[in-house]
Amino acid sequence: MPKEYTYEYHATGAFMEGPKVSVDYVYGFSYNKLLYSGRTEYQTIELYETPLFGKLLKLDGNFQTSEKDEFFYHEMQVHTALCAHPKPEKVLIIGGGDGGILRNVLRHKTVKKAVMVEIDKGVVEFSMKYLKSVCGNAFTDRRTQLVIGDGKRFVEETSEKFDVIISDLTDPIGPSKALYTKEFYQSINKILNKGGVFQLHIEMCGTRPQISRDIHRRLKSVFKYATPSSSYVPLYGGLMAFATNSQTIDASRVKAAVIEQRLKARGIKDLKLYNGKFHEGVYALPNFLRALYSK
Ligand code: SAM
Repeated sequence: MPKEYTYEYHATGAFMEGPKVSVDYVYGFSYNKLLYSGRTEYQTIELYETPLFGKLLKLDGNFQTSEKDEFFYHEMQVHTALCAHPKPEKVLIIGGGDGGILRNVLRHKTVKKAVMVEIDKGVVEFSMKYLKSVCGNAFTDRRTQLVIGDGKRFVEETSEKFDVIISDLTDPIGPSKALYTKEFYQSINKILNKGGVFQLHIEMCGTRPQISRDIHRRLKSVFKYATPSSSYVPLYGGLMAFATNSQTIDASRVKAAVIEQRLKARGIKDLKLYNGKFHEGVYALPNFLRALYSK
């Protein structure tokens, strides 16, 4: 007798089209149990137990992270950016409430200070309680400074500058909408140290190419190098695009041997996804993406 599961379908069209959705495709995972369902000050929060990915977090109905596939997204975002930089000491994370980005940033021994600005304290507390394998001890690391507040406001008002800034936000609706604009990227540019790098995901390039292209266009209008990359993220249903942005560094030109040497010097091993050749590979775009981002 086959085991019976409950299925939760995720309509990717739903993010952008509003409540009346015409769904172009769906994907889903089975789950054994809904472990928690509630509301923080800003959003709904749910935790599922799934056979494939272990505990899986949803915010406002959208998949955010899971215990077993978190490395696809977190390693890709963090190590491409930090390894492209020769000596990242001060890092800013915008959003990132589950702590997966922060945990990976702190793996780099060069990092002396990591500031994380998250609007929703509820997500951080939830993650510390239920998603320890995602955040580890990152929130109690002495190098971490957690700021609870709006990322946009922080970027506009801070007098600090950073070597690497990583945006790890919910999709561009709700509290993160204003953080996908050209004006915001200009503010980011102002608080980057010379030679600094700004890293973010630029959406699901296979299924939402126009949105991805539009974000990339805004980045291109602010940064000399707005270098796109792509990598598979199972939880988000396919190929995701990212961009590594800088006035001086083209991340696609950093060679595998340099990456390996930086990983070694910074004491990073046992990664599940990222290595030198992988770095070169993610910036080697398939032709349809080359065409998309050159428009
Ligand atoms: N990796 C996920 C993704 O790509 O969809 C994002 C995960 S992380 C949990 C996203 C976080 O961004 C959430 O905890 C949310 O509260 C936070 N966030 C949304 N808008 C924000 C804002 N304006 N300032 C700071 N954090 C924000």
